[in-house]
Amino acid sequence: MTVTPETAAPSARLARGLAVLGGDLLVPLADGRTVTYANLDYAATAPCLAVVAETVSELLPWYASVHRGAGAASRRCTREYEQARETIADFVDARPDDYVIFTRNTTDALNLLARALPAGATVIGWDGEHHANLLPWTDSVLLPVPARASQAAAQLDEALAAAAGRGGEVLVTVTGASNVTGEIWPIAELAAVAHARGARIAVDAAQLAPHRPVSLTRSGVDYLALSGHKAYAPFGAGILAGRADWLDAAEPYLVGGGATAYVGSPADVRWHTGPARHEAGTPNLIGVVALAAACAQLAAADRTALETAEHDLVGRLRAGLTALPGVQELRMFGPDHDRVGIVTFAVAGHEASDVAAHLGGAHGIGVRDGQFCAHPLARRLLADASARAGQPLGDHAVRASVGLGSVAEHVDRLIAGVTELAGAN
Ligand code: PMP
Repeated sequence: MTVTPETAAPSARLARGLAVLGGDLLVPLADGRTVTYANLDYAATAPCLAVVAETVSELLPWYASVHRGAGAASRRCTREYEQARETIADFVDARPDDYVIFTRNTTDALNLLARALPAGATVIGWDGEHHANLLPWTDSVLLPVPARASQAAAQLDEALAAAAGRGGEVLVTVTGASNVTGEIWPIAELAAVAHARGARIAVDAAQLAPHRPVSLTRSGVDYLALSGHKAYAPFGAGILAGRADWLDAAEPYLVGGGATAYVGSPADVRWHTGPARHEAGTPNLIGVVALAAACAQLAAADRTALETAEHDLVGRLRAGLTALPGVQELRMFGPDHDRVGIVTFAVAGHEASDVAAHLGGAHGIGVRDGQFCAHPLARRLLADASARAGQPLGDHAVRASVGLGSVAEHVDRLIAGVTELAGAN
């Protein structure tokens, strides 16, 4: 019998399904040597799953219009587009009447939701959010990130009680996992607190969903946003998933073809309800199909095993870094709090950009340096870390992040590279 992906042993199929492209990339070093790339920048953008690239390649010869043609290629593309919606709904364990709306990314999804808020709604969030979950909400009530995640529920309850006097709908927004520290917020607990006060909750799952299972049904979360490019599916798609009513009542996010049920004149338009209302224009079929392919692979994987492997890599990274003189990690909730595969740190006496340049130029390692589009949180955590270190650590940090293609050698290489700098001022 020929061994095909369908007949291969489950473990072989799983390993094949979770392989990423670029694992054998060769990159130049400053001294002219060449090494394999150690990609430790998954939190910014993850590499593409090989299966995703194959899925896209298979579809490309059929590439045609979506929802706009009766030809065989158009019918196939329309079918794949709508099947992708189902696959992704399953991945986030959506309730039967939730919508999955295709967007460009998490930023786009949260802007869409912000525009769909009922008039007079109050938004409550924390001041440690990524800008994508901070800036779309005008006039939001911003709570300080608490010292312990376990304090967030009481803090939220108090804010909800205060907001009750304002009348109108209330939306709580929070990230599932911080893009600065990887630390996980207690979203199911916060959802319960929000619901007990008649509020809804939206979760920015850009960092959480690629690393941990997410379930709208079990967590009670009302809205969830994520980006394909952080979930091993480049090609420019993301989603907003969640409750239908506000989305159907809102003005379309974009106005144009595809969102319309009837146009008599520009002043006489009837808009669709459903996801189409917010998906005007020719959709990003390739992005959507890529995202669904990645979600299907992750959903079929042994997520507990993946979590354990990631936990081990992060433990190795943190232990190696924090043992170095002058290196401090950034954290919100204390050293033992659960986190996805992100470790952000500062090295005393060295600009973060110089550390990142050294790791890239001398070791072929890709990391991110800066304030990670979460400026208020990054600055505050750097100030905390400086206080712990007893010396100023600057206002930028270095972020190392791992995912499906990460191996212990990459982590060890990073620790060796930082060791060359730490303590050598
Ligand atoms: N939220 C979080 C937690 C993120 O990490 C990011 C990306 N850094 C975003 C939102 C925005 O994602 P995108 O750039 O894909 O819109």
